[in-house]
Amino acid sequence: MKRQVIIIGGGASGLAAGIAAAMEGAQVTILEHMDRVGKKILSTGNGRCNMTNLSVREEHYRCSQRQFPMKVLDRFSVWDTLTFFDEIGVITKSKNGYIYPNSEQASAVLDALRLEAAHQGVEVITECHVISIIPSGRSNGKGKQPEKPEGKKAGFQVLTDKGTFSCSRVILAAGSKAAPVTGSDGSGYELAKALGHRIITPLPALVQLRCQGAFLKQLAGIRCEAVVKLKSEGKILAADNGELQLTDYGVSGIPTFQISRYASVALHQGRKVSVVLDFLPAKSMEETRRFISRRARTMAYRIAGDFLTGVLNKKLTAVLLKQSRISAEEPVSGIDAERLHQLIQNIKQFEMPVTATNSFEQAQVCCGGVDTREVKPETMESRLVPGLYLAGEILDVDGICGGYNLQWAWSTGIIAGRCAGGWKN
Ligand SMILES: Cc1cc2nc3c(=O)[nH]c(=O)nc-3n(C[C@H](O)[C@H](O)[C@H](O)COP(=O)(O)OP(=O)(O)OC[C@H]3O[C@@H](n4cnc5c(N)ncnc54)[C@H](O)[C@@H]3O)c2cc1C
Repeated sequence: MKRQVIIIGGGASGLAAGIAAAMEGAQVTILEHMDRVGKKILSTGNGRCNMTNLSVREEHYRCSQRQFPMKVLDRFSVWDTLTFFDEIGVITKSKNGYIYPNSEQASAVLDALRLEAAHQGVEVITECHVISIIPSGRSNGKGKQPEKPEGKKAGFQVLTDKGTFSCSRVILAAGSKAAPVTGSDGSGYELAKALGHRIITPLPALVQLRCQGAFLKQLAGIRCEAVVKLKSEGKILAADNGELQLTDYGVSGIPTFQISRYASVALHQGRKVSVVLDFLPAKSMEETRRFISRRARTMAYRIAGDFLTGVLNKKLTAVLLKQSRISAEEPVSGIDAERLHQLIQNIKQFEMPVTATNSFEQAQVCCGGVDTREVKPETMESRLVPGLYLAGEILDVDGICGGYNLQWAWSTGIIAGRCAGGWKN
């Protein structure tokens, strides 16, 4: 008789797990509460799906157990992932190591996973919300003792709004709380918690930061190269550089996303946080000082409003001047040393208090999740509940932007699928 595997969640990790388990000869059912599987995959990489990255290292992931992600990712690597996708018909292209499907269509990745799952005989039941997972021998809360499947060590009853399913292995791949419109509403955490797992508070990550500053409306729409640092209690918590986007409520863009999880955690701990922006990252502080001082001499004939023409965005210049108490109409020759020094400071270290991150609705991923100390990295099996496997973003692992979160979903999904579906463990 085939081993019965139920997968909760038909996202990236659940679909990969389903294919892997079926390839091992298991009878697989994916239970998905949305009307179709893989909704989040469609929104990845702005619809192009940054599937993975040729460089996958420890520093690309954050987890309470630092070494946990690489223990998993070394078992099913980026090269294994490329082979897997090649075998299911997706050829890929690299853009500076960032991997996309050759068609640059996220739908192609989802379609290939769906087609392969169907080919492997995976049953997909949509609009089926999982309410609880009951291991054999445990009460379902209504005084009933679900039967232990014959001849199997582990057995489960999975209660859903479409009835109860029995199986010998469960893979919990229900995602996080990020982008709930795609189906990941956080119910997976409740399912894991009810089985005794510890949940490290999920918080929005890869998300915009809301800042304080009356001038923000004037800055809205500006995109510029910058270094973005996150500061708390005099210490730099994180930094990144790239294209910064200024909005009417704060900062966005890749460098903001990369540091945002540290802002989430610090704010959650009640600490004060600010962003420090360097608008001239190509020059050091000393070079900027020399550059601006020389320019103030050679362009003394200009009005201050034209002083940084050709250096910085005009709207940004207006705000930097105002914050340095320099009027746009006054002559550059009239700017005293103190205000020139302030201008240099504002160009290199423009600081804004962070009041909040944007919500889970806007976040690409969550930091926090099921404590990885309770999961075996070799198999993705729970250390607390034999026969329960966990995959994807539900775990306390978050990657930076660049294909790292999907790689986490593929690796954990396939390892969980192989181990849950195989007879040898
Ligand atoms: C806008 C956006 C862009 C992104 N771009 C990228 C990118 O380019 N590269 C990258 O690496 N990462 C990207 N990510 C992150 C990446 O998409 C996720 O990390 C990844 O999809 C997580 O996969 P998962 O299988 O763990 O969870 P999900 O894909 O969220 O799947 C979980 C599934 O479980 C279902 N479910 C949840 N609870 C239940 C329940 N109780 N019963 C039944 N079903 C349930 C959900 O409906 C969902 O389908 C992006 C995310 C977003 C939001």
